[in-house]
Amino acid sequence: MKILIVEDEKDLANILKKGFEEHSFVADISNDGEEGLYMAETYSYDAIILDIMLPGIDGIEILSQLRKKHIDVPVLMLTAKGEVKDRIAGLEKGADDYIPKPFDFQELVARVKSAIRRNTGKPSPLIVISNLVVDTNTHTAQRGGTDIPLSAKEYSILEYLASHKNRVISRTELIEHVYETDFDLDSNVIDVYINFLRNKIDKGFKNKLIHTVRGAGYILKETE
Ligand code: CA
Repeated sequence: MKILIVEDEKDLANILKKGFEEHSFVADISNDGEEGLYMAETYSYDAIILDIMLPGIDGIEILSQLRKKHIDVPVLMLTAKGEVKDRIAGLEKGADDYIPKPFDFQELVARVKSAIRRNTGKPSPLIVISNLVVDTNTHTAQRGGTDIPLSAKEYSILEYLASHKNRVISRTELIEHVYETDFDLDSNVIDVYINFLRNKIDKGFKNKLIHTVRGAGYILKETE
């Protein structure tokens, strides 16, 4: 999953990025309002963490512009103490949640994950496809009750496919959601990871779950 962090305190933004990376996220950072709005409109994110007080355009205005353009990505607002009015304004403009500063990082991660799950219409942290279970809390997967050891990137790709199960996902979309923006990448790398995943998840099972859709991408689904 990929998030955008719009926060002008550079140290805080970098700490957030590092922390989220330890939870299998990738993160882009913007330190000012105008750039943050541009990135949010231009690239595809699974969630946005938005500070309110920003140089250029403030967080409330960014949120308002996004919602006007029907960009319905989950947005979590970071609010300083005493910004009660801003919290209300944020929620009224369509924020999914707000996090008062100073915040507990584990709670922030949990809230971001929860906002993403609500947005994809899957409230449970466990995603089940046939006898494959993907646990988005522990970042683990099991098939037929057996743990499947996965690298961080393998897990990220599996989680994205599982979160959008039964939908064809293009290589470009996968790259957009599991690599940082501007990461110079040949889309063939996705095929390599899909091969690794097939070996770990489908090998030895009659019922294959990962399917190639020629000319379109990949789909994770149970076949009848
Ligand atoms: Ca700020």
